[in-house]
Amino acid sequence: MLTPPLRSRLRAALSLPAAVASIPPLGMALSALVLLAGSVASWQLQQQLSEQLQQQALRAQQLKVQTDVDRFNASLSAAERSIADFAELVSAIDPAAPFQSLAPLPFGTLVRQDPDGVWRSAADRFQPERQAGVWIPPSVSLTAPLRAFFSEAQAITTVYGLGASEMVVENTWVLPLTGGEVIFWPARPAFVRHATAQLDYRPTEWVQLTAPRVNPSGKPRWTRPQYDPAAKDWLISVVAPFAQRGRWAGSVGHDLVLRDLLRWLMPLESRSRSGLLAQPLYVAAMDGSLLAREGVAIAPGALLPADHAPVLGAARADGQVYSLDLKGQHLLVAPLPRLQARAVFAVDGTAIDRLVAQELLGLQLALAVFMGLLLGAALLVLSREIGFRRREQRLLEDRNRDLEQLVQQRTEALERANRQLTQLAGEDSLTGLANRRSFEQALARAWGMARRGRESLALVMVDVDHFKAYNDGFGHPAGDGCLRAVAQQLRAGLRRQGDSVFRFGGEEFVLLLPDTDAEQALHCCELLRQELEDQALPHPLGVVTISLGVAATRPDSGNEAGMEDLLARAEAALYQAKREGRNRVMLAREPGGSASLQQLNGPPPQPPLPSPPPQALR
Ligand code: GH3
Ligand code: MG
Ligand code: MG
Repeated sequence: MLTPPLRSRLRAALSLPAAVASIPPLGMALSALVLLAGSVASWQLQQQLSEQLQQQALRAQQLKVQTDVDRFNASLSAAERSIADFAELVSAIDPAAPFQSLAPLPFGTLVRQDPDGVWRSAADRFQPERQAGVWIPPSVSLTAPLRAFFSEAQAITTVYGLGASEMVVENTWVLPLTGGEVIFWPARPAFVRHATAQLDYRPTEWVQLTAPRVNPSGKPRWTRPQYDPAAKDWLISVVAPFAQRGRWAGSVGHDLVLRDLLRWLMPLESRSRSGLLAQPLYVAAMDGSLLAREGVAIAPGALLPADHAPVLGAARADGQVYSLDLKGQHLLVAPLPRLQARAVFAVDGTAIDRLVAQELLGLQLALAVFMGLLLGAALLVLSREIGFRRREQRLLEDRNRDLEQLVQQRTEALERANRQLTQLAGEDSLTGLANRRSFEQALARAWGMARRGRESLALVMVDVDHFKAYNDGFGHPAGDGCLRAVAQQLRAGLRRQGDSVFRFGGEEFVLLLPDTDAEQALHCCELLRQELEDQALPHPLGVVTISLGVAATRPDSGNEAGMEDLLARAEAALYQAKREGRNRVMLAREPGGSASLQQLNGPPPQPPLPSPPPQALR
């Protein structure tokens, strides 16, 4: 039977797992998915960020170099302005005015003309602090403005920007187309003349750059960088035309020491100037000659690295610094159009990587924390999932156990019921004897066996005499007890193994005696009758007795109605016994036999017994 707690547990076992089982796997799958997506996303994010940071760092370096290049160009512009002003001043000199030397030092001691035609100082290298001077050819008169200019020579560096340009100016000169030159060393207030009137400067590059056909605008121009053996340095000159009496008369210019000029771009302390990541490498002229390397002047003949030829390729139209990847090295190239050169910087890739790694560290930490939290959540869900599963498993096991118990209980109950049913079907509840239904089956079986064994089968009908009177006298319950006693007596009285007794109905019994002929049956029945009588069970009319009708036959296959006939003959014999006075055994005649009934050892017909005995059977 299903008890209420069991029923509720069964219900819980069926409904709870269904509810919980569907959620945790979903959570598991979701958290796994989120973890995976998070990992992929964070990896992608890091990749993207790293690339962006690298590009930013590169761009920052590019901007830093660009700033230096812009300042450098601004200085060149200042020099251009300075030389333009100076050209204007020199144009005001009247060549017809008488010469007047202001030189405090004797000519020739400081400057000489070498055999190669180049003017050299006595010390080979110009020494501006000692070699200041000016020479004005006889044809050039020192006009008042020029004189004033000379007298203020001390201030030249500032007035004309020679110092203001922040460049070291080797010298400032005036080259007439023919005859003589004027050179100023701005560090000194006095000037020295040092050229002859016979020199023809027209073919020189400096002068050519100022020729009206080459430079119709008359604005300052820049010479190519040139190595000056006297200075042992690369020099570059900014030149502008000057006029006399309204006609082009020659060039004025500044000689600038390239090494000093380039200190903006190639500082000795390169890292402090250009930042950590872009390191100045060199400046190369467009013909491939190396002009400077990190502020160091280079001797003529040196060329830029062979595999760096591409840096001399076409610059960008806007003249801006651009980046160039060369054999795994990242370069920044700054076009220097006035110098007809390129400044080249190397980007320190490992330093950039370090910088990027530092920048990413914070993000990675945040991601690690996030992923850790995600993992924790996933583990929590997993542990809950396992808990749910275990609970579900336990509930299922409980349910199975309960169901097994239930099945066992049901099976036992069924077996009991079956046993009862079988008994009820075949047994008489009052006496415990087999009942009439069993008798019919047993008769059919015995009949078949007798026929097969060609044996005689005897059937006996037994009826308690005057039983109505017994009931009337002792009551119905006592009658039941009497019937049980008679049944017991009959069962005990049957001697042979195969003999059986059945309650036929009411106070009637029937005996089945296999392999027993009429005579044997008569004998057996007489013994039974006698034994019961000897029991002297009290009866209102005396003692309890029985009457017995015996029929025997030898069944054969042709006689299917023989069983009914056998029973009918036994009944007939019983009635005969009743009629003849009861408490006796009568044998029915064989079918087709002469005598219909035969009494065996029975007492003579008797009248009804007198007064009832005092005690009834229970
Ligand atoms: P006879 O000697 O001619 O057989 O007389 P009888 O009184 O025995 O026969 P009758 O057929 O007139 O009565 C049978 C009685 O048996 C009637 C009935 O009440 C009684 N009886 C039948 N079955 C039972 C039973 O199970 N218990 C009891 N106590 N009485 C029963
Ligand atoms: Mg009867
Ligand atoms: Mg009777």
